[in-house]
Amino acid sequence: MTRFVDVPTLSKLAHDIGVEVFIGDLADEIESNFVRWEEFDKTSRLGAHNDLGVCELMPVADADYYGFKYVNGHPGNTLIDMPTVAAFGALADMRTGYPVLLSELTVATAMRTAATSLMAARALARPDSRRMALIGNGSQSEFQAIAFHVHMGITEIAAFDIDPAATQKLIRNLAHFPGLTITAASSTAEAVRGADIITTITADKAAATVITPEMIEPGMHLNAVGGDCPGKTELHADIVRDARVFIEYEPQTRIEGEIQQMPADSPVVDFWRVLAGTAEGRQSAEQVTLFDSVGFAIEDFSTLKYIYTEAIKRNIGVDIELVPTPEDPKDLFGHTRGGRPAMRRVV
Ligand code: NAD
Repeated sequence: MTRFVDVPTLSKLAHDIGVEVFIGDLADEIESNFVRWEEFDKTSRLGAHNDLGVCELMPVADADYYGFKYVNGHPGNTLIDMPTVAAFGALADMRTGYPVLLSELTVATAMRTAATSLMAARALARPDSRRMALIGNGSQSEFQAIAFHVHMGITEIAAFDIDPAATQKLIRNLAHFPGLTITAASSTAEAVRGADIITTITADKAAATVITPEMIEPGMHLNAVGGDCPGKTELHADIVRDARVFIEYEPQTRIEGEIQQMPADSPVVDFWRVLAGTAEGRQSAEQVTLFDSVGFAIEDFSTLKYIYTEAIKRNIGVDIELVPTPEDPKDLFGHTRGGRPAMRRVV
């Protein structure tokens, strides 16, 4: 049988574990998989684009499991009361190819994206970072704020969104966090002034210039999350040129990340190498570091494995017959008789 985790089930899991703990655990899980980067069978995600957005498939495998996520990105969806991003995914046992988990991944993606931002920032941002600017206050924003507050010691967040209602929603949702002050800024320039970390997580299918060079101060860490598609960026090209740039999977990031604005051989650092100790991270307190996040399949694989482990351990979710398991493995025809043939246990 396949464990099925739908949205209410994931919601219960997140509530029982606690969103802060969930994000912290995921950051550790993703980091442990980034460290063994070379053990994964990797590929860029496959996307189908139109003027409205993109639908993508993100597969990856190690020796034990194969995982994939389906995800979309449609910035205009919120105008018709639908989220910009929706996702689900599956995990299969590499020994048999049998799917062991089918899971919602929309809420989980927000937690894994925050976890990935956290993983990068704790290696790259100045350890004394306390102030963050959060540009784009939509669905992902609370998760980013929680990750940086709880696990990075950020105590002040200056938030800006072209939609003031989104910023008010962010402030309202996180009002109960002791020791965290979130203020609504009147512009991006105001929000980023004096920030140690800038997180950009806006949605616009355009080469936007949310952050411009005069906003950059020495020592900042830029966590650029919203530019994740061909033709969809957030930073002025000069910022990307001048920063020390860290990436997930180069073949994918060259097409989808901020570095799509750069020449094909512009210098970048594979972030996994920093974790593995074979590349330098931040080189000085004054250096501007840029995590050019686009989202990579290993992050979702890590999330699926975490959900699977926790769902089994906590007996959460239901087992469904997603694929047939007939007693006679050659009698698929038995499944056309309207009933259920005798089932075999899969080990
Ligand atoms: P969302 O639509 O819920 O929120 C996006 C917010 O950005 C909206 O409130 C919008 O008003 C605001 N915005 C748009 N242009 C802006 C600008 N110029 N300045 C300030 N605010 C602006 O979307 P979401 O689910 O929060 O996702 C945000 C972005 O993050 C999307 O582009 C999505 O594709 C991307 N994303 C990236 C990853 C990754 O791994 N890198 C993962 C998930 C989502």
